Order: sequence, then structure tokens, then C-alpha cells
Amino acid sequence: MLYDAIEILLPDLCSALECTSTEVKPDSLGFLWCEDCSERRYLMEWGKRYGWPALSFGEYALAEGIEMYGTTSLLGDDDRICAMLAAMEEWERTNLEEVA
Ligand SMILES: [Zn+2]
Repeated sequence: MLYDAIEILLPDLCSALECTSTEVKPDSLGFLWCEDCSERRYLMEWGKRYGWPALSFGEYALAEGIEMYGTTSLLGDDDRICAMLAAMEEWERTNLEEVA
């Protein structure tokens, strides 16, 4: 499903479904993001860095795997993206601080 979505993306148009900005830069996976959609870019870069872990925050949940991250960052609404940013912080607190 994610790959179908990628194929219909227009070149030089932000990858977020509801965004029509053409001022975009690619992320390390090949998605294009504008400045306003930098949280979506961050979600993908973060997922890649930590191996696409499952996340949850409040009523929102994200199953593990690149396809779930892609679907969320391309199609998710802003409330969901915000919840995932909070979930990522929580995940970092739980999973990274013990290493230090
Ligand atoms: Zn955008």
C-alpha cells in the first residue's frame, strides 16, 4: 500500500497527502517534505534510525515496520503526527537513557 502511494506522488510536490507545497527537500528514504511538514520528515528519519519500533500515545498507536511509518507520515492527520512525536520522546526515555 505504501509503495502504491509512492508511485502516485508527483515529483517536486510534498509527500504529505494534503500538502501542495513544491518547496521540498528529499529525506534519506526518498520522500519529499516541505518546511511545514518537517515533523513528518522527522518521523521517517527517526523510524529509520531506531528500526521502526511500535509506538503508542493516548488513543493513537503505530505498529512496527516501515510501511506503518510511511502510511502515517504520508496520510496521517496532524493530531496523529503530534501524538507520535510525543510517543517517540517517551520511547527514547524508556529505551535510550538506560544505556548512558
Ligand atoms: Zn508539506
